[in-house]
Amino acid sequence: MKKLVADRTSLIDASGIRKVFALAAELKDPINFSIGQPDFDVPEPLKQEAIKAIEAGMNRYSQTAGDKDLQDKIAARMTDEFGWDNPAVLVASGVSGGLLLAFMALINPGDEVIMVDPYFVMYKHLVNLLGGKCVFVDAYPDFGLPVDKIAQAITDKTKMVILNSPSNPTGIVYSEAEIQALAQVATGKDILVLTDEIYGQFCYDEPCTSIAKYHEKTLLMRGFSKSYAMTGWRLAYVAAPASLRPVIEEMTKIQQYTFVCAPTPFQRAAVAALDYDVSALVAEYAHKRDLLYEGLKDTFELSRPGGAFYAFVKAPKGSGTDFVTSAIKNNVLVIPGNVFSEKDTHFRISFATTDEKIEQGVDVLRSLA
Ligand code: PMP
Repeated sequence: MKKLVADRTSLIDASGIRKVFALAAELKDPINFSIGQPDFDVPEPLKQEAIKAIEAGMNRYSQTAGDKDLQDKIAARMTDEFGWDNPAVLVASGVSGGLLLAFMALINPGDEVIMVDPYFVMYKHLVNLLGGKCVFVDAYPDFGLPVDKIAQAITDKTKMVILNSPSNPTGIVYSEAEIQALAQVATGKDILVLTDEIYGQFCYDEPCTSIAKYHEKTLLMRGFSKSYAMTGWRLAYVAAPASLRPVIEEMTKIQQYTFVCAPTPFQRAAVAALDYDVSALVAEYAHKRDLLYEGLKDTFELSRPGGAFYAFVKAPKGSGTDFVTSAIKNNVLVIPGNVFSEKDTHFRISFATTDEKIEQGVDVLRSLA
């Protein structure tokens, strides 16, 4: 089999996550703190939009870069929000699709990609798959944006810096001042910033700041998966100022020969989703954040999540993996921190579950500390 599969497959390691799922498969009705998607369903009016589109026969390929109405609406939003004149827009099959296209369009073998550690797991593996080199900038112990360390990590091989706020796995939202400081560095060194804002609607304490406000050379990714609980609909967009149109055009070319287009009927629903108010759902998640954080803060070392639906918690003793193994033995599913990090000291909790399960899970975790 070794000869059959391409060498690049060995550059991807999914063993950490697989181990958790193998252990989890043996559990009956676990307290599942491992899920990376909301526990609510797609809002009814958005389902109706998708059903209407299917019934109206919108079941064929869309334009490669996306349904024209959707593209136009996104472009207008970008102009409103960032003052971008005639922005470039690509509708992608999830932020995952957007990331793959961006990395394929941008990374040459040996190019360096700077990312904050802990990071969203896909960045590392896709960069490696394409022969790029990940440069990890440590954000432990409080997970604030390490702007000085990022500045020091920039070399003439740096292709881009990846920014993810609110962050998966930490739930941290970078402050306006941190984002401005990074923008100043990136603008000074003329570096591309890829900003993954998939959790941008899940901001609990203050509005999330986009670096696109302060730095021109920004490739912005936003998704529909999390905000509207439509992870299976595979929808996101990539947007950039007109000066980066050539990058979006190369990504669109690659989309043409890979994904072809994002799912057409769901793109119609996405037009409606852009106007759909999720603030009530977000308020429920702020409450879940409080339940979890207040429950754990006296027993565990963790930073208070300001967004997304994750907390990144230090294992009270032993490695992150050891603690996760004992949590799973006690019916609580969490993910070891080394899935998202070069270190194995923490574990990730997703609080995208019922309040009751959060309370039960907190009790079990505290009893293990
Ligand atoms: N970025 C981050 C930070 C994520 O957590 C996820 C989903 N777990 C994605 C991107 C990809 O999401 P999707 O492909 O569903 O848009």
